[in-house]
Order: sequence, then structure tokens, then C-alpha cells
Amino acid sequence: MGSAVRRWRVPAAPRAGRLLLLSRLFQPLNLQAGGEAEGEPSCRSQRLMLQAGLIHPSSPGCFHYLPPAVRAMEKLVKVVDEEMREVSGQKLSMPSLSPAELWRASGRWERMGTELFRLRDRHGKSYCLGPTHEEVVTELVAAQSNLSHKQLPLRLYQVSRKFRDEPKPRFGLLRGREFYMKDMYTFDASEEAARRTYDEVCGAYCRLLGRLGLPFVKVQAAAGNIGGSMSHEFQLPADIGEDRLVLCPEGHFAANVETLNGEQTSCPTCGEKLTQRRGIEVGHTFYLGTKYSSVSNAVFYSPENKPQLAEMGCYGLGITRILAASIEVLSTEDSIRWPSLIAPYQLCFIPPKRGSREEEEEGAALLERVYDDVAEVLPHLAGDSVLDDRTQLTIGKRLKDANKLGYPFVVIAGKRVCEDPPVFEVWNQNSGAGVHPHVHEAVPGRD
Ligand code: ATP
Ligand code: MG
Ligand code: MG
Ligand code: MG
Repeated sequence: MGSAVRRWRVPAAPRAGRLLLLSRLFQPLNLQAGGEAEGEPSCRSQRLMLQAGLIHPSSPGCFHYLPPAVRAMEKLVKVVDEEMREVSGQKLSMPSLSPAELWRASGRWERMGTELFRLRDRHGKSYCLGPTHEEVVTELVAAQSNLSHKQLPLRLYQVSRKFRDEPKPRFGLLRGREFYMKDMYTFDASEEAARRTYDEVCGAYCRLLGRLGLPFVKVQAAAGNIGGSMSHEFQLPADIGEDRLVLCPEGHFAANVETLNGEQTSCPTCGEKLTQRRGIEVGHTFYLGTKYSSVSNAVFYSPENKPQLAEMGCYGLGITRILAASIEVLSTEDSIRWPSLIAPYQLCFIPPKRGSREEEEEGAALLERVYDDVAEVLPHLAGDSVLDDRTQLTIGKRLKDANKLGYPFVVIAGKRVCEDPPVFEVWNQNSGAGVHPHVHEAVPGRD
């Protein structure tokens, strides 16, 4: 390479507007953060997310989601959108300010008690900040006076902030007072059709959690104050989970504890001893029947042109809870591990330390070339990379941070970059596998 080597310089602007410089990223690392706010116990995901500059506490149960966290969340929402499209979901957005009349009509203005954030407008009219949207969406559909059976099934969903005055907000994003939920509401012409919808949406949830590589169980659940006759939860087994699960070792049976009769200890199907575990509820599905459509008179017109109440289902998925729960179950005590699909950045480039003259020149120039190469061959990956330009720090120190932050891939221009041919280290942090001589052999999407 010799004299042809270009001098290393940190690009004045991100290369091609895509390579992000770590020194410019608003991601305040706070490696001492313990996550113990006001004497509350913390958990692994809360601690790691605070340390890694992903979240910043604002008030109990309310957090700033910092840029890398928003990036992860947007990726998660993209995957959720894909799965919702698979089941013909149509995305909309409903107001967060929800008029009290709707909640009074369903009886939940009273029943939700102190969990509802209530407020009034300047005219004295009462509202709540939506904790969920059954009433609101049913009223929307009821307002369509000519809904035909031909338009069913209708499957509407949104991704929005939800507000619940949780008595004990804790564990960071796992239990917030303001959090993101994906909520789908479905309208069908018959009970049979609604049950088909129910199975399809449950299938979408299983696929989604599978694609994220999360170990989950689907369990029978109590319907709580949302109501309805059939309900399942999607749970990630974890010691800090707030729900108790009862599981059959053969997978025949899985419930929440409260749905069990008395002290049932063996599986009703195979008689195997039931085991108990704790779990984090990440999703919840309900078959609602006409519980809400009968309140708002949400009807459709049958083939005989008769108005009939729509059969409904509702399907919640905790977006911010899934972010935190993924970190909770996949990470080690010290290092974040993401589902690859939602890692904020796929790749971190680590150029040589400033002042290590020979490597600096050779390594940096080569790394630029590697980057250009990646950009050409795998544009999606290059646009999903950061460059750790904190070159005043040793490679070791920056690698330690990269390990904590959990980029799926790290490309390092270390000492061996001056060899002929130059050797880069490429780490696959999820598998822990290391040292590949060429970036092409290790980056995802390459044969
Ligand atoms: P939990 O039992 O944990 O209080 P929930 O049963 O009250 O949850 P649902 O009404 O079923 O919650 O809402 C659907 C999904 O929204 C939940 O499965 C969960 O993933 C998410 N969720 C609910 N409450 C919170 C919260 N306080 N913070 C973050 N996510 C939440
Ligand atoms: Mg709750
Ligand atoms: Mg629950
Ligand atoms: Mg629930």
C-alpha cells in the first residue's frame, strides 16, 4: 500500500450521509448507572438501557427514548407492520384524548378506577388519556352507517402511546406509565369468522416473536377488565417477570395461575407434573364477541340487508416492553444483546487509535475502503453502521463499549491491518465468534 495510502481523517460529515460518527450520536453512556430510582429495585434491562444511553428517566414510569432506542423501536414497528400486513391489518391512528362518555357507556370510566389518567378541557368536559382503545375504535366503526358484510373482516391497528397510572411503575420500560403499544381491533360477521381472525392474529404474534428470536410461551389467560370469553397471553419466561406461569413440560398446557382450579398440580392432558415459572407478558389477545359492539351499536349489513352486531377481537402488543424484555432475556449481566432485526445499528467500525502512526494511516485508509466496499455490496448494512471515531481511546476500550452496546457486528482495524494482505478483525457479537481476515466472510447477507 505504501505511499498510495490516504491519510486518515474523520470525515467532516457522515460519509454519504449515512455513516454515523459515534462522537456525534446523542447516546450519553453512563456506565455507573444502577437503575435504582427512589429505592426501587432495578432489573438487568433497566440498568443496561440506562448505562447504554438508550433511555433517560423523566418521572416515575416516564422515560425519554434516546436516538438509538427510537431506532430500535422503529425497526421493531417495521417488523410488526409486516406481520400485521400478513393478516390484512390496516394501520390507522386514533386520538389519545378519549372522551369520558365513551368510557361511561362501557362502564369502564368507573371500573378502571385510579389507573385512568383523567383530565378536563376548558369547558369542563372530561377525558382520559387512552390506556387502550376498545371504546374509541368501536365508536369509529359504529359511525360507518353503511358497513357491509362484504367489508368484513375489518382489522384495524395502530402503534401509539398508551397512558396508565400504574401503581408501581418499575423496571424501566417493562412497566411504564406512558408506553408504546401496538393494538389491533377486529370486526367480523360471525363468531366463526371472528375465531378464525383470532387464530390468524395469534399466528402473527408467534411468527413475530419467533423472528425476533425470543423464547416465548402462549398461555391461556384471564380476560381482566377488558372482558371477553377467550384470551391468551404471550409471555417471555424470566425471573423478574411479574406474572406466574404454570407450564406442562410436554407443552400441553400453559396458563396463568389465576385461571387454574384450586391447587391443580398435574397436566389435565398428560398428567405430567406442572411447573411454575415467572414471565413477562409481552402480548395479549382477546376474543370479545359483541361486548363493545353492543354498547356502541357497531353493526354491519348482512347479505339479507339486516343490521347485525359485529363480532370483535382485540390484540395488544407491548412495543416498548418488547424492547426492554428482549434485552432482559438475551443480554448478559454486562452486555446488551439485541435480536439482530432490531439492533439500533448492525455494525460498528473501530479505526486505529490516534497516534499509532503506521496503523493509523494504513488501517484507517483500509477501513474506509472496507466501508466503501460494504456500502457498495451491502448498502442496507452500510446505512446501518456507526464509526467509533473516538480515536483518542484505545481499540480495547472502544471494543469494550461496543461489546456493552451489543452491535451484532464489529469491524476492527487493529495491528494486523499492516500485514499483507491486511487483516481486519470482524466480530459477530451475537455468536461470540471472532477474527475473520476479511469483512466479506463474516457480515450478514454474504454467502
Ligand atoms: P400487565 O399485566 O403487565 O399490567 P396488562 O395485562 O395490564 O399488562 P394489556 O391491557 O393486556 O396489559 O395490554 C397489552 C400489552 O401492553 C401487554 O401485554 C404489555 O405488553 C403492554 N403493557 C401493558 N401495560 C404496560 C406498561 N405499564 N408498560 C409497558 N407495557 C405495558
Ligand atoms: Mg396492567
Ligand atoms: Mg396482564
Ligand atoms: Mg394483559
